[in-house]
Amino acid sequence: MPKWHIGTVVKVEDINKNTRSFWLEVQDLESMDFIPGQFITMDLPIHEKRIKRWKSYSIASHPDGGNIIELCIVFQPGGLGTTYLFEEATIGTEIKFKGPLGVFTIPKNLDEEIIMIATGTGVAPYRCIMNYIEANEIEFKHIHVIFGCRKEEDILYRSEFDRFTEKYSNFKYDVALSRQESWNGYRGYVHQIYKEQYPEYSHDRRFYLCGWRNMIDEARKTLSEDLGYGKDNVIFELYG
Ligand SMILES: Cc1cc2nc3c(=O)[nH]c(=O)nc-3n(C[C@H](O)[C@H](O)[C@H](O)COP(=O)(O)OP(=O)(O)OC[C@H]3O[C@@H](n4cnc5c(N)ncnc54)[C@H](O)[C@@H]3O)c2cc1C
Repeated sequence: MPKWHIGTVVKVEDINKNTRSFWLEVQDLESMDFIPGQFITMDLPIHEKRIKRWKSYSIASHPDGGNIIELCIVFQPGGLGTTYLFEEATIGTEIKFKGPLGVFTIPKNLDEEIIMIATGTGVAPYRCIMNYIEANEIEFKHIHVIFGCRKEEDILYRSEFDRFTEKYSNFKYDVALSRQESWNGYRGYVHQIYKEQYPEYSHDRRFYLCGWRNMIDEARKTLSEDLGYGKDNVIFELYG
């Protein structure tokens, strides 16, 4: 059973106009151990009903032996949890949370081709996984991060992924922007990218999907119906 902890907010930083990084220091642990890709569930003081109070967030930082974790959270207008986090949580705020949780974790088999697709803050677990791979000098065959958002200013962790592209010849990074007028890269949604670059089925290729329902539903449908991938080859984390 995952344990409950108290995390104190020790740092807050805006990434862009509606996305913010929060750093939590876990009070009762010297080291917060987790598998890259996992998440925590906060119990926020926002409602009487537990189901409305519990909000989950992927850990965007990688396990480094310390007790501070970083989260990457997008503000949802009218959203109970994010309104609290953006308007009330500040340095020193104590947040009750349980974790680590989840099975959307660093692929066991890194000698397969790994395609990691995300929209918005769904990129957080991939950022964690890539930094973990780098910090621990873990070998991999091929990792491709495909990220989608509206505009160039919404791209999350761009400089980190650009750095991985420069460092590793077997790492690829593509961004699709749905509402940017002038942009040299892909315009539209993430789906065109994997359809174009991986048009043929391959049994040793695995797709990871992370983010909100529209993207995940569409990707699962495309991967299954158009490209022939079964459940074993498509792993997803649905944010809502
Ligand atoms: C395992 C897991 C990990 C998650 N990790 C993250 C994370 O790392 N970062 C993060 O920002 N969120 C993450 N989420 C989503 C998060 O838990 C909340 O659902 C989100 O912050 C909205 O909460 P809220 O209380 O503000 O909105 P609510 O009051 O719960 O609801 C607002 C409504 O809008 C929808 N919604 C909320 N946000 C979006 C969005 N951006 N796009 C489209 N629809 C949306 C919800 O599904 C809901 O219908 C994760 C969810 C899960 C299940």
